[in-house]
Amino acid sequence: QVVVVGSYNHDHVWQVDRFCRPGETRRAHGFVAGPGGKGFNQAVACVRQGVATTFVGAIGDDPLGTTARALADAEGLHGRWQIRDDAPTGAAGILVDAAGQNQIVVALGANERLDPAFVRAQRGAFADARVLLVQLENNLDAVDAALDLAGVAGATCVLNPAPVHADLAADTLRRCDLVTPNETELALLLARFAGTEVDADALATLPDAELHALARRLPVPCVVITLGRHGCFVSHAEDGDRLGDAVARYRLPAEAVRAIDTTAAGDAFSGALAAALVRLAGRPLIEAVRHANRAAALSTERVGAARAMPHWEEVRARFPG
Ligand code: ADP
Repeated sequence: QVVVVGSYNHDHVWQVDRFCRPGETRRAHGFVAGPGGKGFNQAVACVRQGVATTFVGAIGDDPLGTTARALADAEGLHGRWQIRDDAPTGAAGILVDAAGQNQIVVALGANERLDPAFVRAQRGAFADARVLLVQLENNLDAVDAALDLAGVAGATCVLNPAPVHADLAADTLRRCDLVTPNETELALLLARFAGTEVDADALATLPDAELHALARRLPVPCVVITLGRHGCFVSHAEDGDRLGDAVARYRLPAEAVRAIDTTAAGDAFSGALAAALVRLAGRPLIEAVRHANRAAALSTERVGAARAMPHWEEVRARFPG
């Protein structure tokens, strides 16, 4: 099974023709609220691939927290919730304008108070975990506690380093087997851990050898870079076991889809990758990455975050072979 230790935020999305100026009140022409948060989105993406998934997270003692638990139950997630009485459930306000651009404000609330001791108390869930999936929308001590437990259990540790945290330690990265940054996150990680300044917008079109050389500057044996509509790129340490892959680096182009909303495409990718590592255990990593690339592409054909995640069968039916 997969354990996801991460965030839950309740997303509130308003459709506007244009963004507000300071002091301005505008009417939105649409509103929808629903589950989000990188951790929860990735857990939903994972469980929809047909893999038993435990979600460990913190919510407030409030109605949004109650909603979170009900949504997790409805998805078949095993929820291990810490209910905090000192912080509200995480909530995000998202404006989407006519051009599809967004402005997001998020209060992480209880997510930032997820107690490392609570994570450690979930030892039982980690005992039969094949994969741990974490992000950076919680406090870093909770992330480290999860990586410690997964290390003891011998689980594969996957970090989606989003959003990159100013205090992220090299030691945290070193405990991961695989990281899944997007272009912006890769640029921030390189600046922090390799002292290398790169233009995030130029990464997708760099020659493979150059992208590989950059990824190798991070202290992680496998880096899977998501490149939006350019697909993804995999870079293994030359001396690592390459997770079954025959070559040290390769690129998968994005699948052709009618993308209408790329919100949480990265979450679809990481969640589906974690699940595929379990379902396709023993197979070369490229097969799991291909599945993740397909699931993420399909998620862009639907509006929303957690709700947009496709199921395993849908991915297989749409992209046979
Ligand atoms: P994030 O949401 O973290 O910024 P990306 O934009 O890199 O993540 O997208 C994650 C993955 O989603 C990509 O690696 C790709 O597999 C898929 N994806 C994103 N945009 C598209 C698109 N326009 N067409 C097909 N696949 C896409």
